Amino acid sequence: MTEGGSGSFTVDDPATGHVIAKLPSLSPEQVRASVEAAHRALPEWSARSGNERSQVLRRWFDLVSEHAEDLARIIVLEQGKPLTEARAEIVYAASFLEWFAEEAKRIRGEIFDSPRASNRVVVLQEPVGVCVAITPWNFPAAMITRKAGPALAAGCTMVVKPASQTPLTALALAELAERAGVPAGVLSVVTGRASEIGPELTGNPLVRKISFTGSTEVGRRLLQEAALTVKNASMELGGNAPVLVFDDADVPTAVEGVLTAKFRNTGESCIGANRVYVQDRIYDEFAAALAERTGALKVGPGLQDGVQIGPLIDSAAVEKVAEHIADATENGARVVAGGSVHGLGGRFFEPTVLVDVAPGMLITREETFGPVLPLVRFDHEDQVVAWANDTEFGLAAYLFTKDAERTWRVAAALETGMVGINTGLISNEVAPFGGIKQSGLGREGSVHGIDEYLELKYLAWEGA
Ligand code: ADP
Repeated sequence: MTEGGSGSFTVDDPATGHVIAKLPSLSPEQVRASVEAAHRALPEWSARSGNERSQVLRRWFDLVSEHAEDLARIIVLEQGKPLTEARAEIVYAASFLEWFAEEAKRIRGEIFDSPRASNRVVVLQEPVGVCVAITPWNFPAAMITRKAGPALAAGCTMVVKPASQTPLTALALAELAERAGVPAGVLSVVTGRASEIGPELTGNPLVRKISFTGSTEVGRRLLQEAALTVKNASMELGGNAPVLVFDDADVPTAVEGVLTAKFRNTGESCIGANRVYVQDRIYDEFAAALAERTGALKVGPGLQDGVQIGPLIDSAAVEKVAEHIADATENGARVVAGGSVHGLGGRFFEPTVLVDVAPGMLITREETFGPVLPLVRFDHEDQVVAWANDTEFGLAAYLFTKDAERTWRVAAALETGMVGINTGLISNEVAPFGGIKQSGLGREGSVHGIDEYLELKYLAWEGA
């Protein structure tokens, strides 16, 4: 129990269910103190040149890269993903620090003529101010650096609240930030129960921006709370990614792409393939190839050699996957790979392929967030585009075809922020990541990512 705090909470290893750490649940007063520290740190940090901030971020990048193996193991222990994927997440997470270290040097304003000859328009870019990041458990490192990188580059300060399932990665990143020379108060991590400390983060008037990655349901709530003090908000919310496999696609490429888009992170990804529409002529061939590959995936604890599918985050996640499969099979779908809790028990679930899935089933309407691929048969392009868009979500979609005209037409018609074309891998630091509809607001990464942390100030300069 920390002084003045509200007790403690435990973190467990999803592979075993064993408790691996006990951390303080901070009180709202303690969280307020970290917001106030971020506010006090703001003038000095934002007054540094972009080049000076860049050097600090670059040192943070170097330290994360140097300690990649330790960080990856921490991720496996608290989150469960296979070690090879945890290593890849650290490379991905570090890439945002490197990228935004560079972008810090490129913040620039504008000067141009006003309609009056004696007057100039001068536009400055200024940091938004104190920011809050609220992050999920599925990518415990990357979801933090993707926010803290651009925030610190822009001259903002930030308080991070990591998911309570995965706070250890966040604390390790903060330790490395401190060693890199990030001044006290510029980046803080607060741990605790969202219901207790959330209102302080979303309600404190000193906080000027909330950047959230998580479910649409929680995102809506945070937006409502942030509205009371008119905070700036960036939201990366849920998805229900459709995959469209046309009969002119290269089948092996499509199988590979779908495996990547689904089974990365054991299916626990907001851009994960949630429903796969396959054109009639290649449906059976595609389903057979996919079932064979899926059945061969190695399931086990993330630290074990060769493991490709880890445990799910908690037992509620296992129940949701089982419920989606049960609803589908009760309504006529068939299991052609996996289908049940894995023999290892606990939170391990067999990678699964379902065929004869129909559009109205629960599994195509809700985000499953687990290792299940439901295959729906389709005939016509118009029909499949309508099905793909029949959702409140609009994060990612994937399409497989060799026809260039169809590629442009379908990519334009899909109501999502991102479209993978003949690939299941779309995330990287140079591309703008984000959704439309109820999948979110704003973009992370790319040359646009820093804009989320900058405000424009316009000076009408008479006589300039
Ligand atoms: P997931 O479904 O990935 O667990 P959530 O949307 O439930 O995603 O949670 C994402 C993050 O939002 C976590 O850090 C969680 O603790 C936090 N969170 C959940 N509810 C609230 C809330 N009411 N206020 C502030 N943060 C919250």
